[in-house]
Amino acid sequence: MRCVLLMVGTELLNGATLDTNSIFMANELNKVGIKIDFKLTVGDSLEKILEAIKFAKEKSDLVILSGGLGATDDDLTKEAISKFLNKKMLVDEEELIEIKQKFKKLNIEFLKKNYKEVEKPEGAVSIKNDVGMAPAFFIDGIAAFPGVPKELYNMFPKFLKYYTNNYCESIDPIYIKDIIVSGIPESILEEKIKEFFIDPNIEYEFLVKDYGIIVRMQTLESYKNTVEKIKEKIYNSIGKYIITEDDEKIEEKVFKFLKNKNYTISVAESCTGGMLASTIVGVSGISQFFTEGLITYSNESKAKRLNIDKNIIKRYGAVSKEVAEAMVYGLETNVGISTTGVAGPNGGTEEKPVGLVYVGVRVKDKITSFRFNFTGDRERIRRKTVLHSLFELYKMLEEDE
Ligand code: ATP
Repeated sequence: MRCVLLMVGTELLNGATLDTNSIFMANELNKVGIKIDFKLTVGDSLEKILEAIKFAKEKSDLVILSGGLGATDDDLTKEAISKFLNKKMLVDEEELIEIKQKFKKLNIEFLKKNYKEVEKPEGAVSIKNDVGMAPAFFIDGIAAFPGVPKELYNMFPKFLKYYTNNYCESIDPIYIKDIIVSGIPESILEEKIKEFFIDPNIEYEFLVKDYGIIVRMQTLESYKNTVEKIKEKIYNSIGKYIITEDDEKIEEKVFKFLKNKNYTISVAESCTGGMLASTIVGVSGISQFFTEGLITYSNESKAKRLNIDKNIIKRYGAVSKEVAEAMVYGLETNVGISTTGVAGPNGGTEEKPVGLVYVGVRVKDKITSFRFNFTGDRERIRRKTVLHSLFELYKMLEEDE
């Protein structure tokens, strides 16, 4: 089953409104295994909507439109559909009574143009709108929904139930497996794993993020076992670079370890300035394990709060392996992380350029430091430091098993 999403609204083209409706619909369609081949966006122009419907209809079994179902002059979706299908527009008497009651309840005058809201092409099936005015409808492989997200969320699942019951022989939801890797360049990653993808039913892609690369495998639920087998091969090949899977965050994985081992965690931050602590605190249940987060930004603070010999800072500089290690050593904790780096955009030198970051990680008596050369603006360098430091800690905790 193939489908095209057709988003209608000039505001979606001129940057005034972000199209979130198609994301919602894509997720719902994934659940029932309906694949989206195209997503089109058109402005409020009858001619353009019509053109887009023609294209979409040629390419798919199902065309889903969102937007332009209202009563104002720029709402042209219904007109385009009825023109395309060559069907008359009719008003359903029952729906008319219902919408008039809704207007009355809200104390809004029902104007002549509001009739348009309950008009639909002859023979269309309506989908009840429990949270707004105009109902959605479906006719000849074309479904039309209002643009108002709240109304779409109300009607779209109802429509999908109706559609799959009546037009789909069986439901085979789309299955997505994400493996998140870090520390391996995209080209090498591809070389290492592309040979595992010989089954044409399994699609894969790489999504490059700040914290690493997502290896996304997509198929139908019925091929889930094949994906699991590929996943095993990926683990055997590049297991040491795998951070996590699906939506599980690295801080949540660290938290699980802390809980199992009953370890406490503390952090000493320079360049991340609290971002690391904030990420850790974002995990529900962390309070029993998170002791403290110190933002030791200045050299004085590093020396005073973490008991670092000022000569070490003087000799090696604040952004150094030695200081990162001394920072994490200065924490009273089982498990700790320290961060010190040049987040930029100023302050870089030839020897210590913007993006150079040292992270100290401690698990009990073992202290290790890591050197990174991150790219990006200040915010991204700080964010990468947080994620990579947690990842290094996670790997050390695994070794501690
Ligand atoms: P109404 O009955 O309110 O006129 P409508 O179907 O005509 O509904 P639009 O006028 O196209 O809907 O849009 C209504 C609201 O929904 C606007 O605020 C618009 O910005 C928002 N909207 C429209 N399309 C989308 C979309 N794809 N994603 C998110 N918001 C959207």
